[in-house]
Amino acid sequence: MAPDKRARTRKLLQLMFQDYYRTNHDLVDIPERVQNREFGLENWDYLWVCKQRIEVQEDGREVRKGCGRSGRSFSEFQVCPNCGEKGLLTNRWSRHHGFRSRDMLIGELVRSVPHSVYHSAAFYKVPVARSMVEKGWEGAELVFDIDADHLDAPCAEKHDAWQCSNTECGETGTGAAPEKCPECEENSFRSLKWICDECLEAAKENTMKLYDKFLVKHFGIDPERIQLNYSGHRGYHVRVRDPSVFNLDSNGRMEIAHYLTGMGLNSTIESKGRLRIRPTGELKNWQLPAIARKIADAMIEFIDNIDSYEGKDKWVKHIVAQKEAAIEGLGKEPPMLSAKVMKVGPKYWQEIANRAAAFYSVDIDQPVTTDIHRVIRLIGSLNGKTGFAVTEVTRDELTDFNPLSDSIVFDEGTLKISVPKRGIGVPEFRVGDSTYGPFNGTVEELPKAVAVFILCKGMASVE
Ligand SMILES: [Zn+2]
Ligand SMILES: [Zn+2]
Ligand SMILES: [Zn+2]
Repeated sequence: MAPDKRARTRKLLQLMFQDYYRTNHDLVDIPERVQNREFGLENWDYLWVCKQRIEVQEDGREVRKGCGRSGRSFSEFQVCPNCGEKGLLTNRWSRHHGFRSRDMLIGELVRSVPHSVYHSAAFYKVPVARSMVEKGWEGAELVFDIDADHLDAPCAEKHDAWQCSNTECGETGTGAAPEKCPECEENSFRSLKWICDECLEAAKENTMKLYDKFLVKHFGIDPERIQLNYSGHRGYHVRVRDPSVFNLDSNGRMEIAHYLTGMGLNSTIESKGRLRIRPTGELKNWQLPAIARKIADAMIEFIDNIDSYEGKDKWVKHIVAQKEAAIEGLGKEPPMLSAKVMKVGPKYWQEIANRAAAFYSVDIDQPVTTDIHRVIRLIGSLNGKTGFAVTEVTRDELTDFNPLSDSIVFDEGTLKISVPKRGIGVPEFRVGDSTYGPFNGTVEELPKAVAVFILCKGMASVE
């Protein structure tokens, strides 16, 4: 895309975002103890620096590299535009911001109009200090990120795509990028990640499970102290704002993450003599009975809910018919894979145990939970990858929440955009009540939210 078209598109998006922040002060959520939070702003442009440095070669020679220039660019440069050297430093983040009040925060958003806005889950004595020691960590909310990216939803094969960055090759394909280009064997790709009802629904189901089963039921957290939001793109965030979790260190948060992801619930079914569940993690002998119990409990839960299981496995009908006998055996101490359950042998029990482990757990992006200095999107801000709002929802609202309708901000008027013809086009997608695309090499007049979405994805320019 020509630089002037990019600049014009960028400017328009920024003006629209600015208008949003200027007229929607009330939609922006101000986190508790805002004066103790670090804010991070992600900008539209990259700052690049070609550092002057001396590199020692293998033969011991010292070679000067880098020209010392710096500048701004729309895309992330791999080599210096001035001297062509690799190893450029690029950054679009500015961290260590602090705001004492709503007015100061909104004022900055209107003034600098960032692409995306984040704040720390942590509280700091001095959030604007540049080093962690000076910041003075004073605890952090417990946060979870559930992202369609981690869920391996089958729809990614349909709507995600990649193109080889080697301009002489330009090979394209669907799904996630391969390790090496099958055509030219280079390993650099431009990838396109899209969203649809299917993957967003999977993320939502995981979020509800995390909330209902783990946070409220297993951990007994007061629902009043849990905040939920749609991220504005591929998933959901859950923030536990209960002071009892604030002082958990990284290890404590890691244990919680392992518990949620069902770590250690892998098993093999021993088939010598009587069938037994044998945990396969690295465990000491004395730990085995307790873990076998956990696995059996997960199997009971799965079998109890077998009616909602959508798999077409051969054992499903046998389990449905003999549910009570199966659960009764698993409930014994030690748990038994009951011989009364006819036509289910070790192979099927193994498959059931595997499904049960998956059914038990939720898929979270672990580092978000375990990193006590992590920043998370500001609720009510706009997500620069889509133009959708980071939208707060209550647990009741979440059941029927529809991100591709309910987080739309720019809902009036139309916008004319030009989608250049290239290897990866815009796939078919839904926003609101209608379906759009596929587009490749056309000019389209579209509802504003739809046009903004494509522009934010970098797939088009304003006409
Ligand atoms: Zn340079
Ligand atoms: Zn290639
Ligand atoms: Zn999808």
